[in-house]
Amino acid sequence: MNAFFHIDQARALDRQDPLAEFRHAFHMPVWDKQEVIYLTGNSLGLQPKATSAAIQQELSDWKNLGVEGHFKAQLPWMPYHEFLAASLARLSGAKETEVVAMGSLTANLHFALASFYRPSPERPAILCEAKAFPSDRYALVSQLEFHGYGEADLIEVQGQSEDGVPTEEELLQAIEVHGSRVATLLIGGVNYFTGRFYDMGRITGAAQSKGITVGWDLAHAMGNVPLHLHDWGVDFAAWCSYKYLNAGPGGTAGLFVHERHHQEALPRLAGWWGHNKSSRFQMGPHFDPIPTAEAWQVSNAPVLSMAAQRASLDIFDQVDLSAHRSKGLDLSMRCMNMLDALATELGEAMRMITPREDASRGCQVSVQFLERDRRFFDSLVKRGVLADWREPGTIRMAFIPLYSSYEDLARLEQILREILTA
Ligand SMILES: *Cc1c(COP(=O)(O)O)cnc(C)c1O
Repeated sequence: MNAFFHIDQARALDRQDPLAEFRHAFHMPVWDKQEVIYLTGNSLGLQPKATSAAIQQELSDWKNLGVEGHFKAQLPWMPYHEFLAASLARLSGAKETEVVAMGSLTANLHFALASFYRPSPERPAILCEAKAFPSDRYALVSQLEFHGYGEADLIEVQGQSEDGVPTEEELLQAIEVHGSRVATLLIGGVNYFTGRFYDMGRITGAAQSKGITVGWDLAHAMGNVPLHLHDWGVDFAAWCSYKYLNAGPGGTAGLFVHERHHQEALPRLAGWWGHNKSSRFQMGPHFDPIPTAEAWQVSNAPVLSMAAQRASLDIFDQVDLSAHRSKGLDLSMRCMNMLDALATELGEAMRMITPREDASRGCQVSVQFLERDRRFFDSLVKRGVLADWREPGTIRMAFIPLYSSYEDLARLEQILREILTA
């Protein structure tokens, strides 16, 4: 059979891949005795092989130590979230004091907005991208309503392209036009639908120069693209850990708050885990915030879930992040080239909605098959290709540098070729 991307070429690239060994650190699902082609690490990252032992350690400390585990567990539970901070700081380009593992993504957006969305009648609006992830839109509209405003004050920047997701220039123009009316900007750093990656530093600077407080949703950015939250001067950001961070379903999320806000008297939805550690257990009536991002943490650490995250971050700690970035770009670029070649050869009506420039994407490829319906996608799944389907005709595929291989891509081509010519 002819192929654009040959399996021999793929295997040769796998042999040269400096990250190839990390695939063995993960459980790859096996269906019908064949490893699946796992392209949904942007929805749920695979399980590291070390996860089970990490959780088992906490279970056994709990079994043997009871409440004493808070101090005497191998990794004491009382400061457990602190064991994640260095790795999260490295991945987000932050200082350790600027990040905290806590809560869930949408909840963390609410906690951050409670502090950083402070509307006034002259500046009531929140600016976001059109086609934002639904949960983000629900959160933003509810925040507007909570403050006595409404949907009319949500400025959703519409893109001119077919998919409706704005480009960087369109966002910058909207900031220029609406800036004086906007209190807070909240945008997905990598768009979940198209995989578009914004120049977050540039947008942050442009918005702040208009007096706007800037937050980013990093659900599709953490563990995928290079981030420099501190240097970009981002006010706040939040992410989940079950996508690119491989911390398991519903894993503990994270929050970034820039250090310039740590000493400010901000409104806050407080809880005891944000209270000064030295006096927390004096159980006093007044909240004394820790002068770090931990001040936003409301509750004690969900240790079982954080143990899973620790196991995954241990892997990231060993990874050279520039090699990680290069591999994600290379695999996804080769995938786009393969899809282009296949569409041309077979006369398939197809539209790439992921930007092709390296600077504007991570490792996700979103492609629309304009004349195919869900049956096409179902036949991919039946052949062991786990991707994601969204109407209309859109397949999202993520090439995860830690465990995707070039052979996966060559096998994907074979399967697509068979289905599209059937
Ligand atoms: C995945 C995702 C979420 C999910 O929110 P949870 O609170 O973790 O359920 C929210 N926003 C974006 C942009 C996402 O991609």
